[in-house]
Amino acid sequence: MDILSIIEKKKNKEALTYEEIEFSVMGYVKDEIKDYQMSSLLMAIVLNGMTDEETINLTKVMLESGDKVDLGRINGVVADKHSTGGVGDKTTLIVAPLVASLGVKVAKMSGRGLGHTGGTIDKLEAIEGFKVNLSDEEFINQVNKVGCAVISQTKNIVPADKKIYALRDVTGTTQSIPLIASSIMSKKLASSASIIVIDVKVGNGALMKTKDDAIKLANLMIKIGKKYDKKVVCVLSNMEEPLGKNIGNGLEVEEAIEVLKGNGPSDVTKLSIILSSIMVSLALNISEEEAKIRLNDSIKSGKALNKFKEFVNAQNGNIEKIAKEDNVISIKSNKDGFIKHIDAYKLGNIARKIKAGRLNKDDEILYGVGLSLNKKVGDYLFENEELLKIYSKDVNINISEITECFEIVERKIEKPKLIIDIIR
Ligand code: URA
Repeated sequence: MDILSIIEKKKNKEALTYEEIEFSVMGYVKDEIKDYQMSSLLMAIVLNGMTDEETINLTKVMLESGDKVDLGRINGVVADKHSTGGVGDKTTLIVAPLVASLGVKVAKMSGRGLGHTGGTIDKLEAIEGFKVNLSDEEFINQVNKVGCAVISQTKNIVPADKKIYALRDVTGTTQSIPLIASSIMSKKLASSASIIVIDVKVGNGALMKTKDDAIKLANLMIKIGKKYDKKVVCVLSNMEEPLGKNIGNGLEVEEAIEVLKGNGPSDVTKLSIILSSIMVSLALNISEEEAKIRLNDSIKSGKALNKFKEFVNAQNGNIEKIAKEDNVISIKSNKDGFIKHIDAYKLGNIARKIKAGRLNKDDEILYGVGLSLNKKVGDYLFENEELLKIYSKDVNINISEITECFEIVERKIEKPKLIIDIIR
């Protein structure tokens, strides 16, 4: 077997066998297959797709490429959540402590930014001292003691995805249903939770641009989950505009805290409650309505915020020290009107350019930089009213590139629907 003929096969739209997938993926993990060969195969997969059987095999090869977390020593049901990636998506920072505040365990491994989308681990590292690498022992102990822990995918958990994910990020090969499904599901299966809720983002700022593609991805992940006896629920949510108002690591942590205090933007609050209610309902065997009541009570009483503090503290983070760039530029609207559209994809890329994310695999990011929107789609704006703030020292910011992300019209615009579908 050789990698060139495997690339040729996929280039010619043929299905790969389990052995060919294993040869390519494991060869890459062992550095026997080079970045440029793997990039070429990934691009052929992006362009020509994979059958469900190939995707199930790819998931298995990736899952078997490393260790699995043994959650057997965690007392109680463990629920997990994942997002296919969006702009301004800070829901994990909210959902993990919120769900844990009701006694459901959350043992979560998260990733870094991918493409124009942010990653939970980068966000957590915006908190001074926050340790994203815990040993298995520390991880399990913290989940038992605090109720939740969020760590970076350790070297030995799905190492194949770790390496391929970083390569996809910088080779334009992120947007592929089989690659996303196998990447997400291999990690979810390796982290062994029995309940898995996946937020599938749909729209211009998401990896899935259309509802049809999002449904395909959701059904594929549910199918993979069934093979391993896992309950997978997919929530399809709108990513035409950024989620919440803040984009950028430290700024998103700040916003997550506002949600836990009950003062957050309505879209990110609503989505966090829905994702949490599905996790809690399945774990405690209560209705989603009852779960929502308990979750809202936890926010109102301060229990959820206290759980967040306890979780950050347990991972050595100093909640008083969240990165925030002091140089702020305020961008004003040049006309009156209702906001019809905010281009989440472009804003995500602008945030990436000012170093909230990476353009190359080994780029350093700046945790305090980012964008903070003053208004969302459907809001009215006066001429000269603030559109957004930019937190950055970068002097080369192209202001018109930013204002072009906002479409402002005279007629009234309805707020977009946040939850597009729930697939079980
Ligand atoms: N999230 C993942 O974990 N993997 C992907 O490929 C996309 C989003």
